[in-house]
Amino acid sequence: MSVGVAVLGSTGSIGCSTLQVLARQRERFHVVALTAHSNGDLLARQAGQWRPAYVGLVNGGGRESGIGNPGSGAGVDCLVEAATHPDARIVVNGIVGAAGLEATLAALRAGKRVALANKETLVMAGELVTRAAREGGGEIVPVDSEHSAVLQCLTGRRSGELARLILTASGGPFRTWTPERLASATVEEALRHPTWKMGKKITVDSATLVNKALEVIEAHFFFGVGYDQVEVVVHPQSIVHAFCEFVDGSVLAQVGFPTMELPILYALTHPERVPDAGTRRFDPVAAGSLTFEAVSPDLFPAYSLGRAAARAGGTAPAVFNAANEVAVQLFLDGSIRFGQVADIIDRVLAGGALRAGDAGTLEGVLAADAAARRLAREAACS
Ligand code: NAD
Ligand code: MG
Repeated sequence: MSVGVAVLGSTGSIGCSTLQVLARQRERFHVVALTAHSNGDLLARQAGQWRPAYVGLVNGGGRESGIGNPGSGAGVDCLVEAATHPDARIVVNGIVGAAGLEATLAALRAGKRVALANKETLVMAGELVTRAAREGGGEIVPVDSEHSAVLQCLTGRRSGELARLILTASGGPFRTWTPERLASATVEEALRHPTWKMGKKITVDSATLVNKALEVIEAHFFFGVGYDQVEVVVHPQSIVHAFCEFVDGSVLAQVGFPTMELPILYALTHPERVPDAGTRRFDPVAAGSLTFEAVSPDLFPAYSLGRAAARAGGTAPAVFNAANEVAVQLFLDGSIRFGQVADIIDRVLAGGALRAGDAGTLEGVLAADAAARRLAREAACS
């Protein structure tokens, strides 16, 4: 029987890749709901193509945008409505940033599988998200390529067999720059990612390596591993997505040409695999030489700040995430220099936030998030 899928953030990079995958898997899946923030034109085209039961546009009226079918919604409530739609068994969360939190929590409480690309919300509220899954009978499955790689290596293994994770990072466009030159890198330079084509926010996060700090925290919550057991290595070719070391010393890795379509498909079908001919087959000769190098803390200070916030625990990861979201937006707007992204995060964390608060309640997490955003804006002005 065909499985219903809700796609949140359907107009983004992950959303569009998800619809590509679903278009090849029409016998197994159908689209129940689509949501977007403000790109009403693309959303209307997607709705015309997929005829979902529900369409939601956060920033604009359903009817004014021309979507206008009876199952349409507007405003932030549409995210939870889509995420809890009774016909959806799987919710793909491809929203960027903290805005995706409520929908994830609601879907998990309603017992759904959440295929989670929206890593920011697992970082800010990992305790709440994992608890919602436990209590509601829902399940979170990673879409992020590194975490999908880990899940693929771990599936079928007993917990307790895993000793260490090594996540790979492309190193972004600035891997070979000096810290001095990096401080004033332009938006255009930061958006030129060497191996992945993604939304602007995560592309900047890949240039600062904040993305990898977020992924370390994401791995902690997905796989229940301590931070000492999660390492990162720079691998510019993005062919090996992660390594898993087991207690006997054996190491498994998952490899492939960079594409989000495979991790998205696996998040939909896990623990099974289904035939799919849509992505480029792996060819080791075409992949060429694979290289690995340590992360340079001088070049990527924001990465180290993220790891420190992770170790502090509680609401510190939420503070780190919120400060970064504000700083990245200011950088993309042309208001601050590239080097100031790390400076702002540093100042927000130094301002007492590392005395981590309780991340066990939504109020606590949202208060930390709001305070960090305020501090980040102040830090940017002074
Ligand atoms: P994107 O900017 O291309 O798309 C974001 C989507 O979210 C859009 O559909 C937009 O309409 C929607 N959105 C934005 N703000 C919103 C709001 N306030 N409320 C509701 N909807 C909103 O981003 P992306 O590259 O697709 O990334 C999405 C998420 O997936 C991010 O958390 C990112 O870290 C993660 N991710 C992306 C990739 C990738 O290859 N793009 C890989 C791994 C993880
Ligand atoms: Mg990733």
